[in-house]
Amino acid sequence: MHIFTQTAPLQYHLRTLKNDGKAIGFVPTMGALHAGHLSLINNAKQECDIVVCSIYVNPTQFNNSSDLVKYPRTLDKDKYMLQEAACDVVFIPENSAVYPSPVQLKLDFGYLETLMEGRFRPGHFNGVGIVVSKLFHMVMPDVAYFGQKDLQQFAIIRQMVSDLSFNLRLVCCPTSREADGLAMSSRNMRLSPAQREAAPALYQTLQQARHWALHMEVPEVKTAVEQKLAHMPALKLEYFEIVDSITLQPLEKINPQKQTSLCIAAYIDDIRLIDNVFLLD
Ligand code: AMP
Repeated sequence: MHIFTQTAPLQYHLRTLKNDGKAIGFVPTMGALHAGHLSLINNAKQECDIVVCSIYVNPTQFNNSSDLVKYPRTLDKDKYMLQEAACDVVFIPENSAVYPSPVQLKLDFGYLETLMEGRFRPGHFNGVGIVVSKLFHMVMPDVAYFGQKDLQQFAIIRQMVSDLSFNLRLVCCPTSREADGLAMSSRNMRLSPAQREAAPALYQTLQQARHWALHMEVPEVKTAVEQKLAHMPALKLEYFEIVDSITLQPLEKINPQKQTSLCIAAYIDDIRLIDNVFLLD
């Protein structure tokens, strides 16, 4: 496994491989790796000749500075996990390699910024869009892999790839879960035992809401979810939405012919968790 911290040697290494006709798969991460990240690596391994994983905690996508400070960092373990997963290249840039000068460009994702993550994390998607486009330019992958866990992130990256004509294919991989249904997340490491016990309620609520959505009107489902979470003092609901899985437009009515997603965000104390499921498998 080759590890790079600077862009020029990374690009030199990848250019040689590309010239040999190798297909490059890319998995951008913020580290504190878990089995969800490894599922993306495995997907990339199956489809590409060379798999590149980046580990970079991007400061510009944190709208909350204490979340950035508290973000878990487990670099030695991450490298070991990537080695075991037979990842070919790891890129661990310093801030100065990613942001040699302050970025003036602002990305505007239109209505996608007005709902769910966009609404509650102002500036977050601008930071994500900037860093992912920088990483795409540095790695120049043929295929890039993202998780369905961050459904809205995938939607904005798809928009950006289309609008800016990036020459790559995007793949959205299913959410990896713990045995009790909790979506794997680097932030789960911060949960105390009591918080960890409360956390699966998020997924359980989504499962119940899925069932409700097949029998009830959308506003009724939303009220039922709010009431359910109001009875769980450990969880503070931020939003619950039923949306078109592609456009992410909130739906007023369920149409079983349309691919529909149920999305939720909640706090357990100061730890923010998100999750989503498709209405139908
Ligand atoms: P992060 O390190 O949290 O920025 O995530 C890096 C990539 O891993 C993103 O594309 C995430 O959507 C994806 N990811 C995070 N958690 C999961 C999960 N539980 N299952 C599948 N993919 C995930």
